Amino acid sequence: MSFKFCPKCGKKEGVFIKGFCKECFLQDNQLILFPEKIQFQYCNRCNKVRVQRHWVEFDSINLVDFLKSRIKPKDFEIQDIEVELEEVNEKESNALIEVKGLAEGIPLILKNRIKLEKVPGICDSCMKISSDYFEATIQARFKEKNPAQEEKVFFEFQKLIEEMSKKDPLSRIANKGKTNNGFDLILSSNRAARLSAERIARKYNSKVVRSFSVVGVDKTGKEKRRYTYCVRV
Ligand SMILES: [Zn+2]
Ligand SMILES: [Zn+2]
Repeated sequence: MSFKFCPKCGKKEGVFIKGFCKECFLQDNQLILFPEKIQFQYCNRCNKVRVQRHWVEFDSINLVDFLKSRIKPKDFEIQDIEVELEEVNEKESNALIEVKGLAEGIPLILKNRIKLEKVPGICDSCMKISSDYFEATIQARFKEKNPAQEEKVFFEFQKLIEEMSKKDPLSRIANKGKTNNGFDLILSSNRAARLSAERIARKYNSKVVRSFSVVGVDKTGKEKRRYTYCVRV
């Protein structure tokens, strides 16, 4: 009969893994790696969250699958993962994770918690019906035909707009189109359109030419304008 003795706590009974009692072993070994917190964009109008590129219901399978994909075993054979979502408040939720699997052939259940931080945003469908939604157009025009240059400038716009989206959820390219001497970008945020056009213009020693059309009147009787910012590169 083998004599078991935990060198750390002195325990003599129960399940042993690699010479230690289960409790001491789990204390000293991290068998699964998982993020402590994950940030999600969250639409405060309809409660949807953005998982990768899609807006989905908070309790959808997409979110659960995404969370599961972020759990990585380390010397552990995962057999099953269960995720339970718990809404704490407007800004925060928890994902309670239960992972079943084997460590050194011994069945274990490991429990963890991932904090889900909700960053305010606006989903595509709510954006379309939002009263502050309107479009602005950036026109990038090139003196010479140079597809590589056009692509470079497009990526520069994309990067700027993406950066601004951290503070302005409407900063996004809603549509883009090609013209024979450049491209058009339709943005949902006028501010992001203006700022990104100004930055690109400055970079290429150019200027922004602004024009607008009146597209209607708002509730207070003020003109609703749709701006176009043209940058020549
Ligand atoms: Zn022990
Ligand atoms: Zn929404």
